[in-house]
Amino acid sequence: MDRGFSTLMRALCAAMAAALCACLVPSAAVASPIVATCHATSGEALVTQQIAARSVRWDCASRDYLLRSKTNLLLFPLGEAADAPRYFITTVSSFDRITLSVRDSDGTLRSASYTMEQGKPVAGGPVFRLPLPQIHSDSVEVIAAVDGVWTAATLTEARLTKSVEEAAWPLGTLLILAAISGLLCAPLFFNLGFWHVLRERFLLWHVLVVVGMIGQTVLNGGLIQWFVPISLGQLTPLMQVALAISLSAACMFAADFIENERLPRQTKAALKWCAAFIVFTSVIYALKIPAMRSFGNQIYYASFIPMMGILALSMVQAARRGSRAVWFQVVAWTPIFVIGIIRVATNLGIGPEPTDALIPFTFAIGFEVLITSLGVADRFMTLKEQRDKARADAAILGSLSRRDPLTGLMNRRAIEPRFQALRDEGFDTFALVDLDHFKRVNDDFGHACGDAVLVAVAAALDADDDTLAVRLGGEEFLLLLRGADAAERAERRRQAIPGRVARCGADLDRLVTASMGLVQLPRHGMEKIDFAELYTRADRLLYEAKSAGRNRAMSEKLTYFEPRNIERQSIEAA
Ligand code: GH3
Ligand code: MG
Ligand code: MG
Repeated sequence: MDRGFSTLMRALCAAMAAALCACLVPSAAVASPIVATCHATSGEALVTQQIAARSVRWDCASRDYLLRSKTNLLLFPLGEAADAPRYFITTVSSFDRITLSVRDSDGTLRSASYTMEQGKPVAGGPVFRLPLPQIHSDSVEVIAAVDGVWTAATLTEARLTKSVEEAAWPLGTLLILAAISGLLCAPLFFNLGFWHVLRERFLLWHVLVVVGMIGQTVLNGGLIQWFVPISLGQLTPLMQVALAISLSAACMFAADFIENERLPRQTKAALKWCAAFIVFTSVIYALKIPAMRSFGNQIYYASFIPMMGILALSMVQAARRGSRAVWFQVVAWTPIFVIGIIRVATNLGIGPEPTDALIPFTFAIGFEVLITSLGVADRFMTLKEQRDKARADAAILGSLSRRDPLTGLMNRRAIEPRFQALRDEGFDTFALVDLDHFKRVNDDFGHACGDAVLVAVAAALDADDDTLAVRLGGEEFLLLLRGADAAERAERRRQAIPGRVARCGADLDRLVTASMGLVQLPRHGMEKIDFAELYTRADRLLYEAKSAGRNRAMSEKLTYFEPRNIERQSIEAA
């Protein structure tokens, strides 16, 4: 995965470098389109008559548009151009109707009226086109009457061109946009791969951010038209949906991506509210409710301000609290923030004409995904290390909790839950071993000496693959055995105890012996007998061995058909 990731990063870096070069190298000059020199507004129903009567009061000095008015008019002088323009072009946006009128020098007027559905989005550009009525050699001007404008960009970006190519972006730019869209797909697969290993929600949010960003790049740049030609009426809401998906998913991503303890709970909640708010305002804006026309665009752009504010606040707070992950966010989001502020400010009427700065915005998107992908990989590695360490610690703790610290033997907790599995593996002999008069050893030689005796007993029990030795508690041990001569092997171990203890270095004046209660299960049958029942049986036998004078074993062999037909034998120690 590491190698694949570095390949991705190299590819993304190459694309960014290519993009930068393309920005620096001027694109081939395109024939300059005709732009409007004057504008006017009209609230009257019969604008065409107004145009015909030349009673429109044109404003040729300012570029202050009144979006509220029913109709906005633009005047394009045709001048002495050799080739007549054929298309009215403007930015992809919503409107009710556009009427294009051509006036000849003798006053003849030819008009064509279009609804939004008739607007054809241009492949490879953020614009749509409408065909102009016939232009003759004596035509003097074109007047565009735009009804129901939603954004000033529909008017400020309007122009007349001779060809569709003139309206599209240069080929170099389009290739870079296509490359960025293609490269944006790679993090999708990486994130899903990471998700497979680590079920962290931020990975899925990043997938959604990238999906939204691919959508924006493909839709805003008109790349989509090469694959699925869609109408202007479908394109505008789709662009808003793509932007809403990436921005709201970015808020959710930030809430989950930044280390939990580095982000105040309220900020985390605020990020989630921002995500919901953006979805809400985008849906309302996409519905294009007529009553909202004069202010809908401003509200839509203003709705990004809280999101940008909360996102910036979360970054500042997390950085101040020592978050590592947030620095990837800071670097990744700076270009989008700068362009976002320009987009929001110009669309709210601050500064120059409204712009969506689509080409820089697309580069900013590519940059964001590159840096965030690095951040995701970094966070993934950190979380994976933490998880692996936690697992290792848990394994150590688990094994500690299953081991007796004095003798190193397993304890009851280690054996009881696995008892059924051990039975299935053939462990059929259950022997309880208890030291005789051990209390006296402690009383006469001290607790430390007693401990040394217990360690020596553990060694005498000599665990191997077919003999599990367990310290059940105090000076009571359990042997679980399988294979041939299991009872004899248990007995040999019991008998080895005095010798082993004598050699353990403790200064003792007596032999330390042990008694044993041993139960042998049949090879087949009695699978359901549980640990507690066997223990009770073995303990009873042990008690009998103690009562019979200690230093001996009592055993019973259970048979399947006649469980109560128990063969008893007492083996006296030599
Ligand atoms: P019996 O032959 O009937 O089994 O007599 P006993 O003295 O061995 O049995 P009893 O249950 O009376 O005493 C068990 C003693 O084991 C009591 C306690 O002091 C000692 N003991 C239990 N755990 C430990 C331990 O971890 N270290 C040491 N040194 N002694 C322990
Ligand atoms: Mg004892
Ligand atoms: Mg005991």
